[in-house]
Amino acid sequence: MNFFSHLECGYCSKIYDKNKIWNLCPDCGKPLLARYDIESARKNFNREVLKEREKTLWRYFEMLPVRIEYKLSLGEGFTPLLKAEKLGSEVEIENLFIKDEGLNPTTSFKARGLCLAISKAFEFGIKEVSIPSAGNAAGAMSAYAALAGIKSFVFMPKDVPEPFVAECKALGADVALVDGLITNCGKLVAEGVKKYGWFDVSTLKEPYRIEGKKTMGYEIAEQLNWNLPDVIIYPTGGGTGLVGMWKAFDEMEKLGWINSKRPRMVSVQADGCAPMVKAFNEGMEFAEMWTGAKTTADGLRVPAAIGDFLILRAIRESNGIAISVSDEDLIEGAKQIGKTTGIFAAPEGGATLAALKKLKANNWIKADETVVLFNTGSGHKYMHLYK
Ligand SMILES: *Cc1c(COP(=O)(O)O)cnc(C)c1O
Repeated sequence: MNFFSHLECGYCSKIYDKNKIWNLCPDCGKPLLARYDIESARKNFNREVLKEREKTLWRYFEMLPVRIEYKLSLGEGFTPLLKAEKLGSEVEIENLFIKDEGLNPTTSFKARGLCLAISKAFEFGIKEVSIPSAGNAAGAMSAYAALAGIKSFVFMPKDVPEPFVAECKALGADVALVDGLITNCGKLVAEGVKKYGWFDVSTLKEPYRIEGKKTMGYEIAEQLNWNLPDVIIYPTGGGTGLVGMWKAFDEMEKLGWINSKRPRMVSVQADGCAPMVKAFNEGMEFAEMWTGAKTTADGLRVPAAIGDFLILRAIRESNGIAISVSDEDLIEGAKQIGKTTGIFAAPEGGATLAALKKLKANNWIKADETVVLFNTGSGHKYMHLYK
């Protein structure tokens, strides 16, 4: 049994019935978040039981919103948190770790979110789902939909690298390549939702993907023996992972699993698309749409995020920071990770190392602090960048 109790708007705090299908808050149009009966969970979900659990994100099913009979699994989550000794000495950080999300099904951490969203769609009996994507989310959705026997409609910018298209097609999705950015793709999904009744699984436009992503927070805590690191560096597009981990820390404290110490959350974007960095620096609650978004790190090419206020809130509450790095530096970062750790990183993963170097150089991060970098995907789908 899980302890999922209701949905709550992340902005206006209105409460919604968990047994109905929702997208955004019908009242204010902002993202809905899953809430749990933490009092009961605290009494009945002891972290000691985890030792015997399967090594997937479903090990935390009590704090996930899907009835376990509807669980779809391809082995997602519980990725290794690797100590990067050699890289740590190169950048002068004693305790440097990399959470290698490239080992997830479909080779990115998008598998976590889409695993939960499609499992929930399966529980609700939904037959058709659709997504706008820079590539990885589409592949992940296609995989879980294939497993569930649900039809997928995928919209990607037409300059998406070929492996993403091939993956979606091989997984049985209907693929449309769109002239424009992910925001243009989002408009076409919205039209299909109106016309054909597809379920929209866009980032934070349904409440369940973030629940899959939050398990990264549970895992880091468990893998560091219930002590959180000092700093987490996360490449941010739509921001579900960052917001999700921040939510997980709060839940774990209420469960009595961790204390009140929190990592400083670093949101990394690309110089050519940095709406969160701009909003953070200007002290804004919401981010303006970034015009002319351009970066080779496709997962970071998100000019507007519906969860912007949640991302900015988490960064500020954590005493964190938002910074951007150049495309050149993020690719260099991925190569340095490769040479020193054996991890073939996605460019977005490389961005976290580029950010670490900048923050170490200006003394925002100290040599004796424990730092976790997120390699959010494998380099395998970005061959064109590593020639
Ligand atoms: C989607 C994606 C990101 C951005 O993740 P968000 O949770 O949307 O901020 C980063 N890296 C990779 C490889 C991605 O696919």
